[in-house]
Amino acid sequence: MNGHLVLAGGGHSHALVLRRWAMHPQRRPPGLITLVNRSSQALYSGMVPGLIAGIYCPDQISIDLRQLADQAGVALVIDEIEGLDWPQRMLRLAGRPPVPFTQLSLDVGCVTRTDAPGLQPIKPLEPALQFLQHQDAAEQQAIPFQVVGGGLAGVETVLALRRRWPKRSLMLRTREGHPQSPFRKAMNRAGITHCPTPDADMTGVRGPGLLCTGSDAPAWLAEAGLPVDGRGRVRTARTLEVLDHPGLFATGDCGVIDADPRPASGVWAVRAARPLARNLEALSRGEPLRAWRPQRRALQLLGSGRQPHGNTAWALWGPLLIGPHPWLWHWKQALDRRFMAMFKRQTMTQGRQRTTAMLCRGCAAKLPAAPLEAALRSAGLERLGTAPEDAAPIPGLKDCQGPPVLQSVDGFPALISDPWLNGRLTALHASSDLWACGATVQSAQAVITLPQADASVQQLLLSQTLAGIRSALEPQGAQLIGGHTLEARELCSAPLSLGVQVALTVNGTPTAALWPKAALQAGDQLLLSRGLGTGVLFAAAMAGTASASSLDTALAQMATSQHPLLRQLQALDQRHPGGLHAATDITGFGLLGHLGEMLRRPEVRVDLLGDRIPALPEALSLLAAGHASSLAPANRRAWRLLDPEGERPAPVQLQLGTIAAGSADHRTLLELLVDPQTCGPLLISVSPAFAGLVHQAMPHQWTAIGSAQAC
Ligand SMILES: Cc1cc2nc3c(=O)[nH]c(=O)nc-3n(C[C@H](O)[C@H](O)[C@H](O)COP(=O)(O)OP(=O)(O)OC[C@H]3O[C@@H](n4cnc5c(N)ncnc54)[C@H](O)[C@@H]3O)c2cc1C
Repeated sequence: MNGHLVLAGGGHSHALVLRRWAMHPQRRPPGLITLVNRSSQALYSGMVPGLIAGIYCPDQISIDLRQLADQAGVALVIDEIEGLDWPQRMLRLAGRPPVPFTQLSLDVGCVTRTDAPGLQPIKPLEPALQFLQHQDAAEQQAIPFQVVGGGLAGVETVLALRRRWPKRSLMLRTREGHPQSPFRKAMNRAGITHCPTPDADMTGVRGPGLLCTGSDAPAWLAEAGLPVDGRGRVRTARTLEVLDHPGLFATGDCGVIDADPRPASGVWAVRAARPLARNLEALSRGEPLRAWRPQRRALQLLGSGRQPHGNTAWALWGPLLIGPHPWLWHWKQALDRRFMAMFKRQTMTQGRQRTTAMLCRGCAAKLPAAPLEAALRSAGLERLGTAPEDAAPIPGLKDCQGPPVLQSVDGFPALISDPWLNGRLTALHASSDLWACGATVQSAQAVITLPQADASVQQLLLSQTLAGIRSALEPQGAQLIGGHTLEARELCSAPLSLGVQVALTVNGTPTAALWPKAALQAGDQLLLSRGLGTGVLFAAAMAGTASASSLDTALAQMATSQHPLLRQLQALDQRHPGGLHAATDITGFGLLGHLGEMLRRPEVRVDLLGDRIPALPEALSLLAAGHASSLAPANRRAWRLLDPEGERPAPVQLQLGTIAAGSADHRTLLELLVDPQTCGPLLISVSPAFAGLVHQAMPHQWTAIGSAQAC
C-alpha cells in the first residue's frame, strides 16, 4: 500500500531505518515518507553520560536528522507532536495544521516521571542538558546537587557529574538497598554522598537536582486511545505493529512487545530497527509482516567515572556485573564511536553513485542576470531589465484615485522537503518584493506544480503547501484569492515533496509614497535588516557540510516574516516623510547585484563597509572553504561595480576596515556579496536622521553597512 508513511520521532530505531534506506534506496517504500521530530538533531543515548562528563562535545553524539533524511529520500518536518487522531489518521503538531498519514511508526522515546517538583527530569534530554549548562555557573555553591534515582541512569549520571564538577558537593538519593554495592563503592571513592530514602519518599527534597527516576511513554499516546501498559508504552505484536491497529507501529522506549516485554533502553531501540524497517517495507509491498523475537537480555556497558588509572566502565549481562575496568571503557568508547560513524555521510553513500546534479534550489535556481537581460532585450522588453523595480504598478489602475496597485511575482523549486514550511518561505519571499516598495500585500494567487504521485499524496502536498502560504499571508491581512495547479511532466526522485514548485503573484498598495529602488541621496545611510548567507548554507547542506545548527538558524531567520519591520518603517515614513529614499530586497543576485540595481544615478556612489556586513552563522567559513551556490559564479559579474574598466570611478567602493586587502577574508567577503538569498534581507537607503529613528524604533534589528556619497 503506497501513500504517506510518517515516522514520528527521530529516535534510535527510526535513525537506523533511515540509514538503511539511505544505503539501499531500492528498499525504501514508494510514496511519500516524512520524519517528524522536535529538533533537527537526535542524541545518541550511549554517549550522553560522556557528554555530561565533558568527554564528548554535542556534535560528537548528535545524529544530523536533516542530512540523514535527505540521504534517505525522506521529507523532514521539525515540530512538536502534540497528539494523534488515529481514526482520522492525523498527527497533531504544535505550530501548524495536522499532518495526515496512511501508515505511522512511533519512536518518540519516553519522559521522566516528575514526582519531585523543582528537580529537572533527565528526559527529555535536551532541556536537561541546558539545565546542567546553567548549573555550571553554580559549581562553587555549597548546596549539594542531587541526583535522584538508583537505576543505571542515575548512577552513570552522578558519576559523570563528578567529572564535570570535581569540587561540587554531589548527592545520590535512592530507595533503600539501591544501587548495588559495587556502584555504592564507586560513589564513595568519588566523594558522592549516598542518601537512601525509605519508600522513595521525596517530601522535602529540594533542588538543584536531576530526576532519573524511571520513565513513562508520552501521555498523548494513551490519550489517543492506543493500547498501553502501566507505563503508557504502546503495546505491540511481535511484528512491532500496535495491537488491533494495522498500519501503526511502535518501537524504542515508547513501545513494548506484549509477548516479549523488554526494559526501556537504547539497546532495544537499536535492535528493533531492522525488524521495523523490514516490516514497513513488507507492508508497502502488501507482503505479510514478520515476527521478531528479541533476545532475552543484552550486554550493557556503563561508564564508571574517572579512577586514578584513567576512565573505567562496568559490563552488565543480566545479574552479572564485571568491572570497573579501563579495558571495558575502551571497548564501550569504540562501540559508541562506531555507532556514530555509521551516520557519517561518506559511510552511508559508499558505493552509491549520486545521479542527481547538485543544482541549488530556492532563489539560487534563478536564471543569471546576463541571459535574462539579453532575452528581455531581444523580446523588446529591455526596460524590464535595465530599470527593474521590485514590484510594478498595474498600468490600468495607475492613474486612478489613491495609491497605485502594485504587483510582483516570485517562486522557485522547493528549497526544503517540508511542504508547509516551503509554502511559507515562498510566500514570504514573494511578499518581500512588495515590502521593498513600502506596500502591504493584500492578495496573492499561486501556481503550484506538483510531482507525479498518487492523487492522495498530491492532495496532501497541495494542502500542506497552501496552509504554509496562508500562514505567511494572513498575518499581513492578505488573502490567497486564486491560482492554478500543474502536474510536473518529469519524474521526481524522493522525497516527493521536493518536487513541489510554487510561484506567487502578490498585489498590494503602499500606505504612503512608493519607495523607489534607485533614489539614493548623497549622505544616506544604508541599513540591512538581517544576515546574508542562505545561498551558501543550502549549497553546503546539499554537499553534507553545513552543520545542523547553522541550517536551523538560517531556516528560523527565513521563516520569520519581515512584515512587522515594514509596518514600523511605514509608520516612521508617515510620521517623518522624506527620510526613506530608496529600498530593495536582497534575493537571487546577492547584495552586490541588487545594490547595483539601486545605483542608476551616476551622481551617487556607495561606500560599503565590508567588515560590517552581517552573515549567518557558518556562512563565512563555508565560503572560505570554497562552497558556493550554483548561481554565485554568474552573480560574480556584479564585482565589476567594485572595479569597473575604464575611467569611471567605482559605483561601489568596498571599504575593508579590519579585513586585510588581498587576504582570504577579503576573498570570502567578495563571495558573500554575490551569494544569492532566499527570504533575504531588506536594504533601505535613509537620511542619517531617519536612520536614528529606525535604530530607536527597532533596536539591534538593522545594521548600517555603508553610505551613499556624491561622485
Ligand atoms: C543518562 C542516560 C544514559 C543512558 N545511557 C544508555 C546507554 O548507555 N545505553 C542504552 O541502551 N540506553 C541508555 N539510556 C536509555 C536511552 O536513553 C533510551 O532508552 C533511548 O534513548 C531510547 O531510544 P528511543 O529510540 O526510544 O527514543 P529517543 O532516543 O529518546 O528518541 C526519541 C526522539 O523523539 C523525539 N520526540 C520525542 N517526543 C517528541 C514530540 N512530542 N514531538 C517531536 N519529537 C519528539 C525526541 O526529540 C527524540 O529525538 C540512557 C538514558 C539516560 C537518561
